Amino acid sequence: MKRRDLIKYLSVAPLVGGVVGAGIPFLSANAAVSTAAKRDLIKELGLRTFINAAGTYTTHTASLMHEDVLEAINGSSTHFIMIGDIQDKVGEKIAALCHAESAMVTAGCWSALVLGTAGVLTGTDLKKIAQLPNLDGFQKTQMIVQKAHNIAYVHAPTNTGIEVVEVETAEDLEKAINEKTAMMWFLNLASNEGKIKHEEWIAIAKKHKIPTMIDIAADIPPVQNLWKFNDLGFDLVCVSGGKAIRGPQSAGILMGKADLIKAARLNAPPFGNNIGRGMKVNKEEILGMYAALDHYMKLDHDKEWKDWEARVAVIETAVKSVAGVTTTVTVPPIANHNPLLNIAWDTTKVKMTSDDLALELRNGSPSIEIMKFSPNSINITVFMLKPGEDKIVAKRVQEELSKAS
Ligand SMILES: *Cc1c(COP(=O)(O)O)cnc(C)c1O
Repeated sequence: MKRRDLIKYLSVAPLVGGVVGAGIPFLSANAAVSTAAKRDLIKELGLRTFINAAGTYTTHTASLMHEDVLEAINGSSTHFIMIGDIQDKVGEKIAALCHAESAMVTAGCWSALVLGTAGVLTGTDLKKIAQLPNLDGFQKTQMIVQKAHNIAYVHAPTNTGIEVVEVETAEDLEKAINEKTAMMWFLNLASNEGKIKHEEWIAIAKKHKIPTMIDIAADIPPVQNLWKFNDLGFDLVCVSGGKAIRGPQSAGILMGKADLIKAARLNAPPFGNNIGRGMKVNKEEILGMYAALDHYMKLDHDKEWKDWEARVAVIETAVKSVAGVTTTVTVPPIANHNPLLNIAWDTTKVKMTSDDLALELRNGSPSIEIMKFSPNSINITVFMLKPGEDKIVAKRVQEELSKAS
């Protein structure tokens, strides 16, 4: 039977699995059906896929989900389940894993920041929820932030209408606290730059009974950060799901005090007439987020770290064979905490700019994405590489640098 005829036959055969499969020993019926049904949208739309030696960038679609996550997504996609029930159950599980009272899956860390802040402002008052981002008549309308923490991510909580009050020292903070203070916000990424550290921030907040929120979006690994800030006493902790945890790119976690999570959920779908209505997370993403977290927590993190170091060494060794090329490995202390390889070259020996190199790698086969760092250096991370891709990256970067020598 010709392939075309076989497919035609299979599509009308009543008992595809049993009868047909038995009659065609060289090809199982299921395999034939799935071959016929397989549609490659990446090819069809002419989309470029690439080896991600850059990192968990939103532009690069951040991370790839594990098989466990895909199973959670596929397994739930053929059933109806009440969305509230999924949030309840998954929230309980995540809270237990991360030492929080309660948790919810959000549309990324950004949405956790918005919904958490909304919950702080409104509590469970439906009138207040409907009024956001207009805070007329609200008693508490301000959020205190350290100057060094007041960077782009503050845009998330301010979606609620909350006003930012900047402070630098603990003394400033004590002075800034007043009857309008709704929340004290902390950006973990900037904790080395800010003058007030976590413990002091929390102690002052507790003294004045003000809720605290911390943004730790990209600060996993280390895995311990998943519970550290709950243990320290932050009332709300916001994490990205689609970065190194490798959940759905559009998912995140808001966890913390039960009353605040309850209030945050009222500001989110499936409820309407609130600012969170557009921050929908579907059942597949909620379950996928849980599967990713569960998977991540069970990983052998020491082994993973050694694998990353081994990959970096493969690339380092290859590129250093080119005269004029030097490498350095650093580990960012907070956020994207994994080995970062910088490859630099002496432009009198290697006549190429980082723009040229990035373009050659992008246009090569397979396509590779790295990060330009300076006109004569690039950065590479290996935590988003699939096994074996380190060798391809090593070969390609070495090839291009040699060509320009
Ligand atoms: C990535 C990031 C966010 C946004 O997180 P998403 O999960 O992409 O919504 C917020 N804050 C910081 C510090 C981040 O790095």
